Amino acid sequence: MDMQTSLLDRLFDTGLLIDTGVEGLYGRSGAFEDVIARFERLIDAYGGADGAEAMRFPPGMNRAHFESSGYMKSFPQLAGTVHSFCGGDLDHMSLLQCMEVGGDWTKDQKATDIVLTPAACYPLYPTIAKRGRLPAGGGLYDLQSYCFRHEPSNDPARQQLFRMREYVCMGTQEHVTTFRQTWMDRGLEMMAKVGLDVTMDVANDPFFGRAGRMMANNQRDQNLKFELLIPVTSAAKPTACMSFNYHQDAFGAKWGLNLENGDVAHTACVGFGLERIALALFARHGLDIAAWPADVRKVLGYQD
Ligand code: ATP
Ligand code: ZN
Ligand code: MG
Repeated sequence: MDMQTSLLDRLFDTGLLIDTGVEGLYGRSGAFEDVIARFERLIDAYGGADGAEAMRFPPGMNRAHFESSGYMKSFPQLAGTVHSFCGGDLDHMSLLQCMEVGGDWTKDQKATDIVLTPAACYPLYPTIAKRGRLPAGGGLYDLQSYCFRHEPSNDPARQQLFRMREYVCMGTQEHVTTFRQTWMDRGLEMMAKVGLDVTMDVANDPFFGRAGRMMANNQRDQNLKFELLIPVTSAAKPTACMSFNYHQDAFGAKWGLNLENGDVAHTACVGFGLERIALALFARHGLDIAAWPADVRKVLGYQD
């Protein structure tokens, strides 16, 4: 049995994660959720004074916005669309007959106006663009959403529905790259406070196909994406628990995000993988939260 299976099995055994029969789709216990809530309070303690505008979107986004984002060009393999039955009585009858005989009843489902959110920041850009030019000093936003990615795996740190907490900054190149550096420093400090071993590395997104490999190389060469890696299922292959992304003016140009003076905005986002951070804590300190080191418990606000 490999390491991944054993951590997942232990998470199931303790009830921290709840098996649904689908890889990467889990229920969470109250204790697991509580760890995430407490870690989010720690994020608030670091970012709360920055004056970010908080917004919460549901885990589905406007399909038209999803189409404009270009996600299907870069990550068609990860996307999830919401389809529904849109027929009448006769269609319903044949649907039920099809299910009865174990046929593919899903082929007549029709696409709705909703696509599952692939990253917490996706619904933000069109929302801000609609407001008109950014205020003087740019924009700063605080987001959290369940996100969907079709990447089934028996690695508990690679889920299909998971939460991302994000801060997104819009402004000049100088402004947003400083924002990103600030959060890289904060990320390292926060993880040290909760007793996690971290490394920071340059990274790239898994752009699809042959053209995608060129995009990935370019992203790496230009240091557009960094990841904070923490051991979860393996010390040799630590898991990305935060990412720090500089989009240059690509999203600004795509969505029509403009500074107060009319210049195209640069954007950056930092994302916390909330389940991954909780899993890193369990992997490092054990599955019994009451037995976690006193200093870690204190930082997370557990009463002793
Ligand atoms: P990976 O390289 O591990 O696939 P990623 O580069 O795709 O990660 P991002 O797109 O930068 O990840 O997403 C932001 C954060 O969301 C990641 O740093 C990670 O903590 C978390 N995350 C991404 N994919 C998953 C997943 N499948 N399950 C749980 N958390 C995830
Ligand atoms: Zn983002
Ligand atoms: Mg990925």
